[in-house]
Amino acid sequence: MRQPLIAGNWKMNNTRAGAESLIQGVIEGSTGMTKTEIAVCVPFVFLELGQRLLSGTPIRLGAQNVSTEASGAYTGEISAAMLREFGCRYVICGHSERRQYYGETDAVVAKKLAMVVSSGMTPILCVGETLEQREQGVTETVIARQIDAIIEANGIDSIGQIEIAYEPVWAIGTGKTATPEQAQEVHAFIRRRIAAHGGAIAEKMRILYGGSVKPSNAADLLAMPDIDGGLIGGASLVAEEFLAICRAG
Ligand code: PGA
Repeated sequence: MRQPLIAGNWKMNNTRAGAESLIQGVIEGSTGMTKTEIAVCVPFVFLELGQRLLSGTPIRLGAQNVSTEASGAYTGEISAAMLREFGCRYVICGHSERRQYYGETDAVVAKKLAMVVSSGMTPILCVGETLEQREQGVTETVIARQIDAIIEANGIDSIGQIEIAYEPVWAIGTGKTATPEQAQEVHAFIRRRIAAHGGAIAEKMRILYGGSVKPSNAADLLAMPDIDGGLIGGASLVAEEFLAICRAG
């Protein structure tokens, strides 16, 4: 059995006061929810706050990006070791917004995954197709390329050390969710792809869905056999909505 993971991706949102009350709200509202693992991936500047508030709770802390480099003259970058020191358990890598706006390639994403794993944390690798690619019928080709690039760069065993999030680009922040069947189809494909590479971990690993998950659609998505959790953007910014999704897990 794969324990569901519901991870909030706050993106570039919130103030210090807002971050504090949101984290407090999630802590208070999630007491006794042991079935689902819960994580919040906050902007770097709120990590210290998150570490302090979440210590002693079962809620995990995460970051949304990391440097490909270990340390040195990389102005503006944050290393995996720094994230680890600030209590991160998860690091989102290769989110489509980073691929699209900051030019992150599969090779860059593979380096980030390796940095995160070697620093003792778990990367959440995001993959997904654009609307144009879906309409052209190349969804599986795109996903296969994104997964294969990681396996080629870091080895099949590295896949056992990561979480994967399927996030169709057309569903992110648009209010358009993939139907449970559409998502299930891609999740099953990802699992088959990893198994085809000889990944014995294919059945054990968690594959999260992300893209306009909300309280009203979470239960149907999470009921699908290959959907093992969610990466939640907009709805993770409101404690009650995020908690309702956690309960659906
Ligand atoms: P959304 O974002 O839930 O706001 O669509 C999901 C994500 O980008 O991780």
